[in-house]
Parts: sequence; C-alpha cells; structure tokens
Amino acid sequence: MIVYGTRGREIKGPVVNDITCPNCGKTEHSLFGIMRYFHVFWIPTVPTSRKAGAVCHHCNAAVMGEDMSENTAQRIKGMVFNMKNTLPMFTGLILLLCLAGFALWGAQESSKQKQAYLAAPQTGDIYAVNLQQFFPDVDTDGYKYGALKVAETTPEKISFMVGNTAYNKISGVNKAIRKGKANRKDYFGDAVVEFSAEELTVLNNKGAIRNVFRD
Ligand SMILES: [Zn+2]
Repeated sequence: MIVYGTRGREIKGPVVNDITCPNCGKTEHSLFGIMRYFHVFWIPTVPTSRKAGAVCHHCNAAVMGEDMSENTAQRIKGMVFNMKNTLPMFTGLILLLCLAGFALWGAQESSKQKQAYLAAPQTGDIYAVNLQQFFPDVDTDGYKYGALKVAETTPEKISFMVGNTAYNKISGVNKAIRKGKANRKDYFGDAVVEFSAEELTVLNNKGAIRNVFRD
C-alpha cells in the first residue's frame, strides 16, 4: 500500500511595514505562505503550489498575493518561501534520498563481490541458490531455496555438496549460512553434483544464484 496525495502547510514569514491594508489603511503586516505539496507516506516531495499573503496587525484582514501589485506579490513570495523557511519541510525527503542512495551503493558493492567470487570459485564457498532452477526435475514443494557448497574446482567443472535443508524463502538460506548453521558437519550431504562454468553462468544470469559466501 502506497499512501500519496497533496497536502498543504502554512509557512510563517517576517513582519513588514510597507503594505497598506485595504481595510484600515495601516501598514504593519505579518507575511505568511501556503505551500501545497505532493506527499508520499506524508513525506513532502515536490511543491505543487505556493501562495503568499499578508495579515494586517491592526484589523486582522488578510490580503492574498494575487490581490496585490505584481511587484509586491513577487517580493513577499520571495520573503516567505526562502530556503530557511522551506528547506526544513523537505529534510525527510533529503534523508530518504540519502538512505536510498546508500542502499543502492551497498547493493552494487555486494553484487560486484558476488561476481568476483563466481569468477574464481574456491573450495568452501557456499552459494545460496534457487534449487528449483538448479534441479528442475526435483519437486521442491515450495521449499525451493537451499545452499550449495563448493567441494572441488577444476578448469572443466565445479563440484558441489548440496545442503540437507530446503527453505521457502532465500532469507532462510542466508540466515543459516550467516549464523554458522551451514558449517555443521551434517548440514551438507556427501553426494556431489557437478556443473561447468558455462552452466553456472547461465544459472546465475537466470537469477538462480542469489548470494555467494566466503569465509
Ligand atoms: Zn487592517
């Protein structure tokens, strides 16, 4: 579920002394602005409209910018919607963009490392994989994720031991490997399956190899 839409917020501006009240003729006014903005989960993203106005200190009458001269309207808009007044509204968005950038960078780094491990496999590497894609003939009954451990590598092929436990989510495999469960003696069976480097490349391109772990 994504919640989005537009909302408005009032922004306080400075007090000025050079606007004449059409109601009482006095000049002291407080400036204000109404900014409408597009929000996603209540986090303001882009402003959709900005209106500025002034409230008379003497009689409380409000005049909107569109009822003033073009020059005055522009001038008070600039005084209300400056960086100092509007930037704090968007700190949530700025923070979110920083986090997203950081997550993206992290994902790219871990993908680079995975490719490096795959290009030069070592005995003991553990792959978190989609077993259904590796072994299409086996019915995994929904528990299609598991671990493969590199037993031996030769220029022609790579041999793997297959984990005894299958999971319905890839996170289950990752967790078992990270928490050291996969290091237990009985975690992998003794039987070995072999794949050529080309076959592994094809499987990886299909997304069958999710993570590669190396101590
Ligand atoms: Zn007034």
